[in-house]
Amino acid sequence: PLVLGIESSCDETGVGIVRGLDLLANEVASSMDQHARFGGVVPEVASRAHLEAMVPTVQRALQTAEVTWDDLDAIAVTAGPGLAGALMVGVGAAKSYAQATGKPLYGVNHLRAHLAVDTLEHGEVEPGTLGLLVSGGHTSLLLIEDLAGKVTELGETIDDAAGEAYDKVARILGMPFPGGPHIDKAAQDGDAEYVNFPRGLTSGRDMQRHRYDYSFSGLKTAVARWVEAQRAEGRDIPINHVAASFQEAVCDVLTRKAILAAKEHGADTLMLGGGVVANSRLRALAWERAEAAGMRVRQPRPALCTDNGAMVAALGSHLVAADVAPSQLDFPADSSLSIDVVALANGE
Ligand code: ATP
Ligand code: MG
Ligand code: FE
Repeated sequence: PLVLGIESSCDETGVGIVRGLDLLANEVASSMDQHARFGGVVPEVASRAHLEAMVPTVQRALQTAEVTWDDLDAIAVTAGPGLAGALMVGVGAAKSYAQATGKPLYGVNHLRAHLAVDTLEHGEVEPGTLGLLVSGGHTSLLLIEDLAGKVTELGETIDDAAGEAYDKVARILGMPFPGGPHIDKAAQDGDAEYVNFPRGLTSGRDMQRHRYDYSFSGLKTAVARWVEAQRAEGRDIPINHVAASFQEAVCDVLTRKAILAAKEHGADTLMLGGGVVANSRLRALAWERAEAAGMRVRQPRPALCTDNGAMVAALGSHLVAADVAPSQLDFPADSSLSIDVVALANGE
């Protein structure tokens, strides 16, 4: 099926077009430069930027893919989770396009879309796939039976998401927002063993109660304390070493628990998704450890890891192929939509 996908859950206005699993267009307009000086995404600024960028981005995607509305089989839009006001711009636009063109519309889950995007590069998901979702707002381990159907959450972060930890630690180190890519870069010239930062929820006792859960707020505090102590002694902060040591702690625990969960659930494939999967160390360590465990690893190319419209179109394409009924046009934007829900229905 030919599907157009619209993403507006945070600061990226994304529009993607796929035919089956072929990516035809992926246009992204980001409002990040308008938020950077505030040290975080400002919801109202993001909504206004979506309102301005939405129609031009849709037009660009149609031009790039060389298709018209008539050619399309369906439209998909992120219905949640995300910033409420930002979601509403995409959902409102998508409903209007659907009403005007008569095309079926799917209000879909952003988190499932982060995983579905990988099928554009590596094909259908096989049963026995363990998903590791690592983004700005979420960090969880998932047993994936069917991206358009059953996904079971085995564990998740009990405090900060991994992306949030990257951004907070980057701030401590004086880097601009969003800090993830800056830490990635700085760490390349750093010694990952310089400081042995804590791996959250890995002690014997925690492995009983929180076997597949993560925790990153203690790690963030440990970095802040370490930096403060250095400053108190009048020493310079070895930014590259701290970045590398922090990054190692995050990627070590992320991949260690993912491999463990895969083994304990008989999964032979590890599938990564979410913005933090753009991280070079996470990608390398996932490969290394999956290979050592005899598992296949699949991860989208970095440009498809962060928010975009292609991921939404990809999930929409799976829903059409699976004969899932489209959403009624009165579905809401749900800022806290659970991973359990693949698409919103409504109409009752
Ligand atoms: P969610 O998907 O949970 O709703 P989000 O959409 O805001 O949250 P994403 O776009 O998936 O999040 O990911 C953004 C996060 O990814 C930010 O925290 C950012 O710092 C992080 N990130 C992006 N690139 C890198 C990188 N190379 N290394 C580490 N982190 C990165
Ligand atoms: Mg973003
Ligand atoms: Fe996201």
